[in-house]
Amino acid sequence: MWFVKNKDEVINELQTNALQGLTSEEAKQRLAKYGENKLAAKKSKSLIQLFFAQLNDAMIYILLGAALISGILGEISDSIIIALVILINAIVGLIQESKAEKALEALKKLSTPKAIVKRDGELKEIASEEVVPGDLVIIDAGRYIPCDLRLIETANLQIEESALTGESVPVDKNSDLILEASNTPLGDQKNMAFMSTLATYGRGVGIAVGTGMDTEIGKIAKMLEEGDSEQTPLQKKLAELGKILGFAALGICAVMFLVGVFQGRPLFEMFFTAISLAVAAIPEGLPAIVTIVLAMGVQRMIKEHAIVRKLPAVETLGSVNIICSDKTGTLTQNKMTVVKFYADNAFGELSSLNINEPEHKLLLENLVLCNDATYTEESKTGDPTEIALLEAGAKFNIFKAELEKQHQRINEIPFDSDRKLMTTVNKYDNEYYVFTKGATDNLLKICNNVYVNGEIVPLTEEIKNDIMNKANSMSDDALRVLGAAFKKISSPHVAIDSLETDLVFIGLIGMIDPPRLEVKDSIALCKKSGIKTIMITGDHKNTAFAIAKELGIAEDPSQAIFGAELDKLSEEELYSRIDNLRVFARVSPEHKVKIVKAFKAKGNIVSMTGDGVNDAPSLKAADIGVAMGITGTDVAKGASDMILTDDNFKTIVSAIEEGRNIYNNIKKSIIFLLSCNTGEIISLFFAILLGWASPLKPIHILWVNLVTDTLPALSLGVDPGDPNVMEEKPRNPKQTLFAEGAGVSLILNGILIGLLTLAAFVIGARVYTGTTSLFPIFPENISEEALTHAQTMAFVVLSVSQLVHSLNMRHSSKSIFQVGWFTNKYLIASVLFGIFLQDVVITVPFLRDVFKVFDLNPKDWLFVGLLSIVPLIVNEIAKIFIRMKKTNN
Ligand code: ATP
Repeated sequence: MWFVKNKDEVINELQTNALQGLTSEEAKQRLAKYGENKLAAKKSKSLIQLFFAQLNDAMIYILLGAALISGILGEISDSIIIALVILINAIVGLIQESKAEKALEALKKLSTPKAIVKRDGELKEIASEEVVPGDLVIIDAGRYIPCDLRLIETANLQIEESALTGESVPVDKNSDLILEASNTPLGDQKNMAFMSTLATYGRGVGIAVGTGMDTEIGKIAKMLEEGDSEQTPLQKKLAELGKILGFAALGICAVMFLVGVFQGRPLFEMFFTAISLAVAAIPEGLPAIVTIVLAMGVQRMIKEHAIVRKLPAVETLGSVNIICSDKTGTLTQNKMTVVKFYADNAFGELSSLNINEPEHKLLLENLVLCNDATYTEESKTGDPTEIALLEAGAKFNIFKAELEKQHQRINEIPFDSDRKLMTTVNKYDNEYYVFTKGATDNLLKICNNVYVNGEIVPLTEEIKNDIMNKANSMSDDALRVLGAAFKKISSPHVAIDSLETDLVFIGLIGMIDPPRLEVKDSIALCKKSGIKTIMITGDHKNTAFAIAKELGIAEDPSQAIFGAELDKLSEEELYSRIDNLRVFARVSPEHKVKIVKAFKAKGNIVSMTGDGVNDAPSLKAADIGVAMGITGTDVAKGASDMILTDDNFKTIVSAIEEGRNIYNNIKKSIIFLLSCNTGEIISLFFAILLGWASPLKPIHILWVNLVTDTLPALSLGVDPGDPNVMEEKPRNPKQTLFAEGAGVSLILNGILIGLLTLAAFVIGARVYTGTTSLFPIFPENISEEALTHAQTMAFVVLSVSQLVHSLNMRHSSKSIFQVGWFTNKYLIASVLFGIFLQDVVITVPFLRDVFKVFDLNPKDWLFVGLLSIVPLIVNEIAKIFIRMKKTNN
């Protein structure tokens, strides 16, 4: 019961140091003793369980039944081959699933929150799992509390504890309280902070008193249930499509079975053929292909600094046509340097500041004391804006650590992006100084005096205008401007609301934050690909516009608007103007929601970046919420679909490019598999309808569908991106996979493969029997041997033509010579391996018996080879016309 103890008792009991924290050595030992700071997760499934899960499928049951019946009827080789096919299929499924699982697992790890602790006297950011009892944990707004803490310092700290208590109103915390009643409910333990709750305001320091399962949340959640993984829209659509196609396939098979029986074919053979065709035609593997392609794409994106938190985002990324981006850090380098100042009527370079002038000195003292960053030669931590201010102070020998010792901080109101101000109260001898710094316009609203010539005089309209002119002149040069003001109070015990009133204006500083050079190219690329870039910033309009212009986001000042102007616009007015707007300045987080909604209402697919606690609503409102990995709070990360590990705008554009490629690859795999299935149905269905002998044995169909097709389909899923993918317009999210000619190509290629298989069958039968009659393939006039020969030809052509067809799928209009034969090595390897397997099946005597095939002679191979490359030739010719049509448009 830590809340009834005072701070010293807690420190003693946990043998820690309230100033230096634990030593790294001690932390290591405690980690070994207490274990990782995480809730126990439900055990994941074992490999064997996963394997059997693969077999738990209606189709597999049917196949097993068929194997059993074959065995009973003495067709042992059929039984073996079906068992083999089932086994290979289950293994492939298992590998796919565990790979996807691992990828998702790794992702989860990457996006888990970090904690700031003090060890060896230094602040360190570590994985939350490494926090140990006794650690000194620093809390700031937007951070998840990593474990249970007894607070030892709080500055207006508020924590939202709904995860634990269900109460969503943040609780004010106070480290000085010592509670007496040992049965105080959790919600009233104000000197404690609990694991998985969220700091929404202020700052604090606590000592870790419980970690992992030994926390309040650990007691409730004995086991962390894994949430069901979310299905992407495409996966959902495919599952539906699979059902429809499945029923259609079953219908066709039933018709075929009835026709066959009616024609007097052997019942069992027809039954077996119909089942094999049903297994082949029902696209049960489609959603699995999508998952694996998405998961592998997500892995690639991590290397490009984007962590996708929700799989559906990958699909949506390909449709994004508006990127709303923060300015600071994302479009700019976030490497701030103070270059100009204005105080006591002096305006110029920072180097001309005279520290002996009291106004100049107070300006720097204000900016250094009203500051949460730390700056020493070895380490700089905190907000880059504040680090820049400390750096400016250090240039004049004003160091925060020393100054704070003389002028202790008594109270504070933290910075937030709505007020755009920060205030501290510091002790100056017997007086207390209120120091406020922040956005000039907001600051001037709460000042009524100004400090000039060593005197405090009223802030007239004239002086105000002069200050605004100086601020604007710095903003026009793309400088970020911050103002400073102060007042003296006699007692620190004043209402917090009264601190930011009646202030005395001291001066301004301007800092540069150069644009990121690589961003300019990305923005140009976006323009080319029909994506608009929008800058949304808390900074001044002029600063924002100057940078936007340099980066090519905006050309004319009319494209920039203030948040305050936005407030005045009605919804309709905003909708009518929004298409022309590119820069939104001085916005607060609520404006962001308004902007996202307006863009979305116009049918755009919007991505929005954010980092602060208050950005969560806009990140959720956007189609793709993007959180900053470096500067972002845990709240923003938690609300986002994607996290940028380098906070760079360029990464958003790369992710969009990757998203487009992933979608295209999924499309290639699926269209490929469906056209192969169509080919199989067509060849069998027509042969049966025409009363011919069956061109394929059931095991041939199973083999081709479950073994030969799988690898090329997966290889298409990892096809290297098309370098020209960003020259296309964003995909309409309503568009189906079959749009833009893909459906037609699927059917035509299916028919082609079906006809080629039938042609091989006819040729095989004729060559072997030497007959000149056109259709020597009715069951009654073909011998068993001739039939085997003809079926072998059909079997090989079906499988090899599909393998060859996989090469066509790499691009819908580019020739394979343009795409490059060897740019997808996996595909080439899959095709060669497929041909090799096919060869093995018909040349190894034992397998030949199992598959009931004939050892083809060189002449047969010639026919087979010629027929199999027809899909490539036909598609290459068709693509010439497609390209011609494209250039004419
Ligand atoms: P974005 O990252 O959205 O592009 P931003 O970082 O410029 O915008 P904010 O951090 O909200 O937006 O800053 C807005 C304004 O608030 C700044 O122009 C500056 O005047 C002021 N400001 C920024 N940081 C601080 C701070 N730490 N203390 C006081 N004022 C600040």
